[in-house]
Amino acid sequence: MAKKNQSVQAVRGMHDILPEQSPHWQYAENIIKDVLASYSYSEIRLPIVEKTELFKRSIGEVTDIVEKEMYTFDDRNSDSLTLRPEGTAGCLRACLEHGLLHNQVHRLWYYGPMFRHERPQKGRYRQFYQLGVETYGLAGPDIDAELILLTDRMWKKLGIRKKVRLELNTLGTIEERLVYREKLLEYFKLHLELLDEDSLRRLETNPLRILDSKNRDMKHLIQNAPELMEYMGEESRQHFENLTQTLDDLGIEYVLNSRLVRGLDYYGKTVFEWVTDDLGSQGTICAGGRYDGLVEQLGGRANHAIGFAMGMERLLLLIEQLDNVPVERTVDIYMIRVGADAEKAGMRLAEKIRNEIDGIKLQVNCGGGSFKSQFKKADKSGAEYALIIGDDEVSRGEVSLKPLRSNQEQKNMSQGEVIQLIKAL
Ligand code: ATP
Ligand code: MG
Repeated sequence: MAKKNQSVQAVRGMHDILPEQSPHWQYAENIIKDVLASYSYSEIRLPIVEKTELFKRSIGEVTDIVEKEMYTFDDRNSDSLTLRPEGTAGCLRACLEHGLLHNQVHRLWYYGPMFRHERPQKGRYRQFYQLGVETYGLAGPDIDAELILLTDRMWKKLGIRKKVRLELNTLGTIEERLVYREKLLEYFKLHLELLDEDSLRRLETNPLRILDSKNRDMKHLIQNAPELMEYMGEESRQHFENLTQTLDDLGIEYVLNSRLVRGLDYYGKTVFEWVTDDLGSQGTICAGGRYDGLVEQLGGRANHAIGFAMGMERLLLLIEQLDNVPVERTVDIYMIRVGADAEKAGMRLAEKIRNEIDGIKLQVNCGGGSFKSQFKKADKSGAEYALIIGDDEVSRGEVSLKPLRSNQEQKNMSQGEVIQLIKAL
């Protein structure tokens, strides 16, 4: 047990986003939301906790997430609940529950923390933020292309386009994959001695997942494995060809990666990832795919669905590598108040300024202090101007404005004048 006087620390793998980091987060969030709005996607807000059963039914029992990563607990009624490890299942659950899927098209996004009990390292945490997009009722491949276009636009606007590349694959239909699964199984069984422990386990449960292994010793084995494309029917091929043609037409470069599989059974046809080489082995920034099969699996009528999720921490690590991230100032004007009358008059004036000037970022000095110490704080705040009120100014009905980032002089003026002047800045 921690000693009485020792402070309590955060849970391992769950990190704080401190005030100095928030501007970068807000910068990224604002751009992302603007891009989503420009494609007319709507926000959906979902609970962080769902019934455990939802994830078992959707993600599947034999995945890394359900086998070893979920935060599951019994609540006070002994219901088994789970902190959401991802958003796709909850989003679909909500849409089914509220009847949003019947004969309708939806383009949705959500944003918030996800929870997975993984080994924490750079770019991998136990609580992390995802921005997820899900679309329902569209068979594609045009919507598949749209999702890629809108992510491409996000990277461009964020200034990280050169750091990421698009990897693309198709998984065909469930039936096609079943045939392929057998071929793959045959192949891996011929080379059992080359498989690591994880892969031996996946052999029985989910052999496609072996293709996704990050173990370098198995690279050669995986490279020579049979290709799914050889077992794909005409419809699946057409879908993929149409998608790649659209991307070619719009000048979006991609790398075909036949080893790109999403671990989950309900994925089919298009899968894609945006990958970077700048973050070590946590290189996937955004992962998406078509999952038409999931709607039925969760009790709905057969429907079409495709979506993606991006890991915000990984995105932020990339953004922080940029030379100049444009960050908005948090303080435009710092108000210095010295003397009892000045403190009152200053508080009134500050409210008046906020009433009259939308968007102004005005920080009022609180806690007293001399002119000198308040000027120091004004300077440290990053403000462009100091607005100064002492008892002298109060008795004359005036204030002073001093630019903090240039050599211009401090000027006295009436309160009305100062408001006009600040408005014009
Ligand atoms: P990985 O192969 O890195 O474990 P994943 O396949 O488990 O990723 P998805 O479930 O597809 O990841 O999640 C989408 C995105 O969410 C990932 O590409 C990544 O950017 C981010 N992400 C996933 N797990 C974590 C985590 N533990 N910490 C931070 N970001 C994560
Ligand atoms: Mg993972």
